[in-house]
Amino acid sequence: PRGEDEMAQLGKSFNYMAQSLSNQIAEYDELSQLQQRFVSDVSHELRTPLTTIRMAEEIIYDERDTMSPLVARSAELLHSQVDRFEKMLADLLEISRHDSNTAQLDAEDTDFKELVRKVVDADKVLAKKLGVKVTIKPTTQRCVAHIDSRRIERVLRNFLVNAIEHAEGKPVQIEIASTEQVTSVRVRDFGVGMTPETAARVFDRFFRADPARTRTTGGTGLGLSIAAEDVALHNGRIEAHGELGQGSAFMVSVSRKPGMTVTEPALLLWE
Ligand code: ADP
Repeated sequence: PRGEDEMAQLGKSFNYMAQSLSNQIAEYDELSQLQQRFVSDVSHELRTPLTTIRMAEEIIYDERDTMSPLVARSAELLHSQVDRFEKMLADLLEISRHDSNTAQLDAEDTDFKELVRKVVDADKVLAKKLGVKVTIKPTTQRCVAHIDSRRIERVLRNFLVNAIEHAEGKPVQIEIASTEQVTSVRVRDFGVGMTPETAARVFDRFFRADPARTRTTGGTGLGLSIAAEDVALHNGRIEAHGELGQGSAFMVSVSRKPGMTVTEPALLLWE
């Protein structure tokens, strides 16, 4: 009967499609492995010459008071660009560590209130320079969680520096809260904000909402993607929300006890 023939035919084309799809996936896997190796090899190769450049550059930079204005300006330019280069390379190395699954979690009980204070303190100079007042909302809750403080500090620093840089001189507010299971930190600014489409993509690698602007401030578009990977290592949650012209909010939530996955954040992302 015809029906059976058709079924057989359909089955064949289905098999064919499935095979071709799985070939494509294999090819893609191979390509992305190649790409990962490339990133890793290149960043490791660049480390040695960059260290030498840094050393030589610092010697020149320290002598800039003795130079003609033009040479002194060049020394300063060199200094800031080597800084930027080092930051980018550190980001690339971190990414290849994540890709090769060699990123390790070094977790211990950490007081988030102290951690947040430390991060705010470290970025005081930048905030002052851009005329941004950073406040931490006081809480009486206990906010100790089992985290890799180096990684979560990096996440928070990323949120804060981004907030300060996009705040347009308006205040930045940080809020910390805990439930029995979860601790959340939210960094909120009232500056340029972002569209929902942008908010959905900020954790993608190399994503920059405004490449022209970040080119001058030296962003790589890698910071938040590394933050997302750091939070994923914790089985935590990272979220972004914004409204154009109204500001943005970024939040990280982690489990307070080891080995648990976050289900419900301890704060609302946007209200
Ligand atoms: P970059 O190193 O370029 O800052 P990030 O990964 O930290 O990269 O951020 C990605 C992009 O998300 C930024 O280029 C910026 O356009 C956007 N972004 C991040 N934080 C904010 C914020 N608070 N307000 C507006 N845009 C932001």
